[in-house]
Amino acid sequence: MQDDFQLSLPLVLRRLRSHPGEGEIVTLTNAGPLRAGYREVVARIDRLARALLALGIEPGDRVATFAWNSQRHFECYFAIPCSGAVLHTVNLRLFPAQIAYVINHAEDRIVFVDDSLAPALGALAPQLPKVEHFVVMGNGPVGELPRTLRYEELLEAAGDGAYDYPEIAERQAAALCYTTGTTGEPKGVLYSHRSIVLHSVGLLMTDAISLRGADRGLLVVPMFHVNAWGWPHAAGLNAMTLLMPGPFLQAEPLAHMIESERASVMACVPTIYADLLRYADEHHPDLRSLRMAVCGGAPMPLALAQAFAERHGVSLLHAWGMTESSPMGAVSNEVADLDEDARWLARAKQGVAVPLVELRITDEDGAELPWDGVASGEIEIRGPWVAACYFKDAAGSAERFRDGWLRTGDVANIDARGSVQITDRSKDVIKSGGEWISSVELENELMAHAAVREAAVIATPDERWGERPLACVVLEDGAFASAGDLLEHLRPRVARFWLPDEFAFLEAIPKTSVGKFDKKLLRARLEQDALAGRVRVTEQS
Ligand code: AMP
Repeated sequence: MQDDFQLSLPLVLRRLRSHPGEGEIVTLTNAGPLRAGYREVVARIDRLARALLALGIEPGDRVATFAWNSQRHFECYFAIPCSGAVLHTVNLRLFPAQIAYVINHAEDRIVFVDDSLAPALGALAPQLPKVEHFVVMGNGPVGELPRTLRYEELLEAAGDGAYDYPEIAERQAAALCYTTGTTGEPKGVLYSHRSIVLHSVGLLMTDAISLRGADRGLLVVPMFHVNAWGWPHAAGLNAMTLLMPGPFLQAEPLAHMIESERASVMACVPTIYADLLRYADEHHPDLRSLRMAVCGGAPMPLALAQAFAERHGVSLLHAWGMTESSPMGAVSNEVADLDEDARWLARAKQGVAVPLVELRITDEDGAELPWDGVASGEIEIRGPWVAACYFKDAAGSAERFRDGWLRTGDVANIDARGSVQITDRSKDVIKSGGEWISSVELENELMAHAAVREAAVIATPDERWGERPLACVVLEDGAFASAGDLLEHLRPRVARFWLPDEFAFLEAIPKTSVGKFDKKLLRARLEQDALAGRVRVTEQS
């Protein structure tokens, strides 16, 4: 066997170059959709790789992107690692101080930035003295941003012709993402070429996400969030079409793009699906071209998946993972031999570990717990695309990595079929009278109420019980439900001691930089007595 055959991204780029398919990248812009077939895209990747060489970028150097999903961003995804450098995708929704922190921590030499984002980055430039060039993608004004070059001019100057990509050892670093870090500074996860190639193959497996060459994939998940869940690299293997919405992430343009581009698969977080559902209920776009819609990054509410299936013929596929796991960990694919209700309950779980990934749950002492659907512990994960440590952070690494396993901080049970059900983040668990209450399950049940748009449940301190659940709720426009109504709705669905003592009716649940409910902020507001619209219902105490 050719056991020394290196699984590096130039191999994937060669595959894309020689792929006979008709795949293309379609980017939504102010001027409408911009299209390019992969032949053209690969030629531009070659030019960009030459331009990086001309700028003096050397193997191992970090080169950042600060950009929405687009064809140019895709070009960076391949040109930067294939030339031996490390692609650092900066999360543009981090707080300004965190943006400066990650760029400096990564020691990025160049930052590729969308013109629409250049003025915002310009305000931070004085804190980024080590960045040698800001390469602006697009022709728009750049404001105060110094040391700029224009992307298209660089490509033009790089000229045509073959580029001799270097041999890259598979264990070399290819990409770098920082976690969204709810506590402390963001932590860097360095992905090797080998891990990205294997993860890409994984995405194509039928028992995982089953991306196909004939697919037209709407990539809503940002390219700065865990490499857009690995889809651009997987497209390098199968040349599937990628539909890039750029900054247009509202339900209307997304629905329009699904319809007009006949998207067959898509990927995003539940909050965006919830927006899309509301829009679709009102405007009835034809979404039936979607054969599958991957829903991950946060728990998928069962009611959301049922509504999409029943009202719009769209099947959501629940998937679980994290920055440290590239992210694909578990996927809730169809279980054949179950009746209708049981099938839905199974699909709403986070699912079974994908091939090559191993999961287990452990108690506080690190002892492994049984897979009986009841015992609840922290998920630990290992596999060829799971990180072994954080980038330049020995203390953070020691905390989370133990005996070759990553401690995820997610609390779950695993049933006899191996399907994972997450009940909480360990930071979010509610312990009442010594018993756990699952905030995720309460949220799921609340969001099944027709008048509830969003629900996030947090713990409030309680003298008698230790902690009690407080449900933060956002009602649908024009709908009404009182705290008493919601309590009655929950009563037949959860244990009596789970019933919230308090509701807070909010205008919106605050979201993190990648669109998840920000419970940390809700807890901070609670602590500062700044949580509006609180209504107490005395059930337990
Ligand atoms: P990130 O690294 O930002 O992608 O966040 C990873 C975390 O998001 C995980 O550790 C989980 O807490 C959460 N998460 C991701 N997918 C799911 C899911 N399907 N259900 C519940 N939580 C999820």
